[in-house]
Amino acid sequence: MPRETCYRCFWPKAHCWCASIEPMRTRTRFVLLMHPKEWKREKAATGRLTHLCLADSEAHMALACDDHPAVQAILRDPSMFPVLLYPGEGARNLSRGELTAADLGDRRLVVFLLDATWGRARKMLKLSPRLQDLPRIAFTATAPSRYLIKRQPQEGCLSTLEAVHETLLALDACGLDRYERPDQLLAVFDRMQQFHLDCARDPDRVPRRHPRATPAPSAAEVARRHTDPSAAVTSRRRRFVRGDG
Ligand SMILES: [Zn+2]
Repeated sequence: MPRETCYRCFWPKAHCWCASIEPMRTRTRFVLLMHPKEWKREKAATGRLTHLCLADSEAHMALACDDHPAVQAILRDPSMFPVLLYPGEGARNLSRGELTAADLGDRRLVVFLLDATWGRARKMLKLSPRLQDLPRIAFTATAPSRYLIKRQPQEGCLSTLEAVHETLLALDACGLDRYERPDQLLAVFDRMQQFHLDCARDPDRVPRRHPRATPAPSAAEVARRHTDPSAAVTSRRRRFVRGDG
């Protein structure tokens, strides 16, 4: 019997998240740009759950992101202050106060995130010259990744959901946003992990379309810059955002 899917959260209808999440308002607008391969993953992406938690967020499937109408509209809009969450040299560290209200003026902060394995995220960026030109932001993570079900590729690497949580903590601390419910994103993350752990213990609990389907959630992932020498050994499965410092 075919399994029904909720086309909002992309989970099986029996485990749909939508009714249990109350989206939180933020001053900042978050735009998750999901690689087509990420977009199709079911039960996997923390990016999708992040989007469900944030009222002022949107998620789009994109590869050459500059061509996406939603991206173009933001880049054209003088009332927006778009940045790319992408750690590395030249990124402004929010935790060190390197982005201020004076930088924004009257404009609204828009944070673009690339949701893909980080090799794919790099490719997306390469295909998106206008995104490349945006100011970049980063943060100093307040906690290591909470991933239990997937080995962290490297200390300091976070899932998309955790990266957005850390971004909001940093924005709140520097007065650029108000992060009213820091518990919700993390609770959703815990619940998602618990679901996967339960499934791993009891494979009959959820019918699997693919017997080898990984129990690991994907996260978004942007990543270290290609100047990082350890990038060469990074596997395609790594899907993390790395905090800066
Ligand atoms: Zn749903």
